[in-house]
Amino acid sequence: YGQTTRLYTEEDPLIILTSDTLKQTLHNSSTAWLVQFYSSWCGHCIQYSPTWKALAGDVRDWIQAIRIGVLDCAHEKNFDICKEFSIHFYPTFRYFKAHGTTFDVGKTYKGADRELQTVRQLMVNFLQNHTRQDRPAPCPPLEPSGTEDILSLMGWKSEHYTAVIIEDGDSYVGREVILDLMPFERVAVKRALTSEKRLLEKLGITVAPAAYLFHPNGTHSIMDVQKRLRFFFSSFLKLLPGVHRKPVTSVHQPALSANKSQGIGEMWKEFDRSKVYMVDLESGLHYLLRVELATHKTLEGEELKTFKDFVTVVAKLFPGRQSVVKLLETLLEWLVSLPLDKIPYDAILDLANNKMRISGLYLSQRVQWVGCQGSSTALRGYPCSLWTLFHVLTVQAASRPDALANTALEEDPLAVLQTMRRYIGTFFGCSECGRHFEAMAQESMSQVKSLEKAVLWLWRKHNQVNTRLAGSMSEDPMFPKTQWPTPDLCPACHEEQEGLHVWNEGMVLTFLKQHYGTANISPKYTS
Ligand code: FAD
Repeated sequence: YGQTTRLYTEEDPLIILTSDTLKQTLHNSSTAWLVQFYSSWCGHCIQYSPTWKALAGDVRDWIQAIRIGVLDCAHEKNFDICKEFSIHFYPTFRYFKAHGTTFDVGKTYKGADRELQTVRQLMVNFLQNHTRQDRPAPCPPLEPSGTEDILSLMGWKSEHYTAVIIEDGDSYVGREVILDLMPFERVAVKRALTSEKRLLEKLGITVAPAAYLFHPNGTHSIMDVQKRLRFFFSSFLKLLPGVHRKPVTSVHQPALSANKSQGIGEMWKEFDRSKVYMVDLESGLHYLLRVELATHKTLEGEELKTFKDFVTVVAKLFPGRQSVVKLLETLLEWLVSLPLDKIPYDAILDLANNKMRISGLYLSQRVQWVGCQGSSTALRGYPCSLWTLFHVLTVQAASRPDALANTALEEDPLAVLQTMRRYIGTFFGCSECGRHFEAMAQESMSQVKSLEKAVLWLWRKHNQVNTRLAGSMSEDPMFPKTQWPTPDLCPACHEEQEGLHVWNEGMVLTFLKQHYGTANISPKYTS
């Protein structure tokens, strides 16, 4: 039962069940379950696994109500349990209600249509089939509200926003948005039907689906989204000021105490999420050169080569202020001219800190975050600036293909990505992050054949990391991890095909080139 036959891994956003865990997981579970019993040798199951993974990712925010699992009946260890559950065909989909008993073997879905959208809608129906008593506790009501119910919200102040999705009776958008917002606080979502004519008239709604928003301060209006699709509604609501993911309950949760928090009081710097800030990039470089690398006493061999390539890439591509670019170029000249195969890091620090300052070349003296500031000092900051830096560098490489001419990295579409990969693997303080990044690089980086594809590869992988980290402890509640760019930043990047959100990659590339391009880097707050 080797690596190669495993269709699902711990990295997937679903639960891998076995004979040891199936019954105890289902018994009196606080959530409902949808489990796929599959066989790792069945061709169908292999072909179907990407859909199942996509489904699990798509309904990731629903896990307090319904969870997705898999169990491999081809694994010897699971033979008996599959027999006990009478699994005769693969794949078999079974639904299990919340709070089930040990004897519950679930309800089989017999339909032939296994499209993602169909299965997702079945999950919604299944949740709705729970009684008021056995419904998973965090799951809000999915039934439509009546006209009076909604109109009674008018003019009242509240602790939270209330969004109402108005839709036809057979539409699933409202219920999906309700479930998408389940892990978020300070927002409630309801649905109402277009058959409620008086409601539509009162709210001035003429097309469906539509969304109407009641603000905490008592005002209300039609929700202004570019496309009336599930992803646009959900994303709009998740990004409302004050709305954030409920904190993960854990003793290790960094305290958001007022004195440590940058988010409260005068320290907070206003910024625009549609811009990139030069101070974040410079602070990132400052931290990287003066703190992260400085933990290495000497650089030699592969480490030295990685460092030289890194300095080459930034010296040639960093779209920074003249004094900073000159500093990087001087550092590069010095590194290239040194005949040594081993350099004490102190010498580099001395050069950056003292010698260069005398000639007026300097990096910012202190670290300050703007676009990368977090609601507590433990969140965002440096890793955010590093992502930003590498996105900027891939975009620069694509718009100035000759920039690396006459260097060792000339004409290599992978120059920036490989340098990033080696930097992250060798020096980045978070070794777990490095391990994950390396696994992603091994899987697909070699398929990147052009500078533009490199821009898109990094974007795609960053989103993969965002998916993995959503709801984790490194997520800043004020900056929830989402698929980026969000619809408010780039409406044209988002489309829907057969009920599944899809990216328009051509538009994404155009957007990335604009967003991370020189003209969009703001000098605000640089001293
Ligand atoms: P970040 O994810 O740091 O993003 C910074 C900014 O980039 C965002 O504010 C947004 O404007 C923009 N952005 C977001 N998504 C994209 C995208 N797809 N394409 C382009 N721009 C985008 N943390 C862990 O806990 N575990 C890990 O395994 C892990 N791996 C990491 C691997 C690497 C290579 C790096 C650099 C960081 C890693 N981190 C990991 C840290 C984590 O990814 C975040 O950087 C950190 O949690 C701070 O998050 P943030 O909210 O500032 O957003």
